[in-house]
Amino acid sequence: MASSRARTPFAEQVEELLALGGPLPIVAAGDPVLRRRAEPYEGQLGPALLARFVGALRLTMHEAPGVGLAAVQVGVGLRIAVIEDPAPVPEEVRLARGRVPQPFRVLVNPSYEPVGTRRAAFFEGCLSVPGWQAVVARHTEVRLRAEDEHGRPVDEAFTGWPARIVQHETDHLDGTLYVDRAEPRSLSSNEAMAARWAQPTPEAAARALGFELP
Ligand code: ZN
Repeated sequence: MASSRARTPFAEQVEELLALGGPLPIVAAGDPVLRRRAEPYEGQLGPALLARFVGALRLTMHEAPGVGLAAVQVGVGLRIAVIEDPAPVPEEVRLARGRVPQPFRVLVNPSYEPVGTRRAAFFEGCLSVPGWQAVVARHTEVRLRAEDEHGRPVDEAFTGWPARIVQHETDHLDGTLYVDRAEPRSLSSNEAMAARWAQPTPEAAARALGFELP
C-alpha cells in the first residue's frame, strides 16, 4: 500500500532504526557498509527526522561510550557524524595528547585537509572494532569543511585530539577504518592497553612492540 508521504529508502531505514528505541545497534568491522563511501546528505531525511536521527546518534555515542559516531556505524550510508568529548583525562594526558574538551557537534558532508605538515601518533580505538586499539599517526591540525545540522556551512580549524576525532569520523564516511592507517605492530587488546600502555604517549609501546613514531 502506497504511503501518502514520499519516503526515501534512507528515511525508511532511519525510521526503522528509531523504532527500536534507545541506543542504536553499532555495526562491526566486516560489514560492507563500513567500506563504502557514504552518500552526500541532501535532505533525504527531512529536518524533523534528521533531528531525531542526530539525537539517536548522540545517545548511542554516549552509551557506548565514545567521542564520535558516524552514520555508517549504525548502518546508514549518509555523510553524517556526531562528535563530543568531555575529555575526562588527567592533566598530563591532556597536555601530551592535546585532549581538550570538544563540545557536541554534528558534521554533515564533512571533508578535511591538513594544515601544515605536523603529525602526532597516539593509540586510538573504534566502536566498530571493539576490544582493540592501535597507534595512528594523524595530522596535528586539519581544516574541516562541512555543514551543520541546519545546513549552515562550517569551515573551521581543529587541533589536537578534536582534530583526531574529526579525521577518524570523516574517514568513516569515506569507507576508511582507523586500522587502515594504524601501525600494525602497535595493535593492542584493551586488556594490554590497561595493563601496559596507559602512558600519555605511545613511546614505551613503540620500543617494546617494535614500531616507529613520526
Ligand atoms: Zn570509528
